[in-house]
Amino acid sequence: MSESSKECAAIVLDCRDHGESDLIVTFVCQGIGRMTGMAKGAKRSQKRFVNKLELFSSLFLRYTEARNSNMAFIVEAELLESFLSLRQNMPLYMAATVIRELTLVSTRDLEGDNGLFSLLLWTLESLATRRPTMTILALFQLKFFEQIGYRPNFSSCLRCNQPLDTAQDYGFESRAGSIICSRCQQRQRQVSIMPLSRGTIKFLASAQNQPLDRLHRLHLSRPALHEALALLYQYGRHLLQREIYSLKTLSDGHWQA
Ligand SMILES: [Zn+2]
Repeated sequence: MSESSKECAAIVLDCRDHGESDLIVTFVCQGIGRMTGMAKGAKRSQKRFVNKLELFSSLFLRYTEARNSNMAFIVEAELLESFLSLRQNMPLYMAATVIRELTLVSTRDLEGDNGLFSLLLWTLESLATRRPTMTILALFQLKFFEQIGYRPNFSSCLRCNQPLDTAQDYGFESRAGSIICSRCQQRQRQVSIMPLSRGTIKFLASAQNQPLDRLHRLHLSRPALHEALALLYQYGRHLLQREIYSLKTLSDGHWQA
């Protein structure tokens, strides 16, 4: 193990037992991306890590790197924000779990940060400060898919490449991650295409182009929110080629018939 320690801001996404006294923790770290660390003796020594390695906590970490593995050794953790409400309030916990599941299944250790840490922190803060939960989840997914390299296209038609025209009707083709105009839709009826209202396209397109600190200014009608969530859910399942269980659980209760 290297003797020199490093520091970073981090968010706890997973924590599991390792042997009788250690914990293995998965973080998303500023400047690093996802990272797995061992907190040796964390289950025995209550002082060093007590109440700090809880899910969704925001921390400042000191750690050392192992020479021949990706695993870090956590030396110390300073709690910056516990986001306690995300663990105590069931709807908020379920929403935070969506963020956790999507991040864990679509990232690997040490792939780089590239804005992921800021996006997670913005989302957890937004949920904890009681911004509208389902709108925050839609915005998170939209930005997250872009982070992992699959920015959906709302600016031009998939087939004819004509730029978005507010006089036209559009649908969304999940397999291509793009809008498609009504003229082009008629030529490929075999593909399943979700109809989209103009309000939904406008919201998603402008959210894509806004930085995180401006997203709360955007407003979305309830039908458009349902449409956006259904689109993102379907697109996410296509991208990941699996069910997104936390979103399905939420959707069964909240926004889908
Ligand atoms: Zn077209």
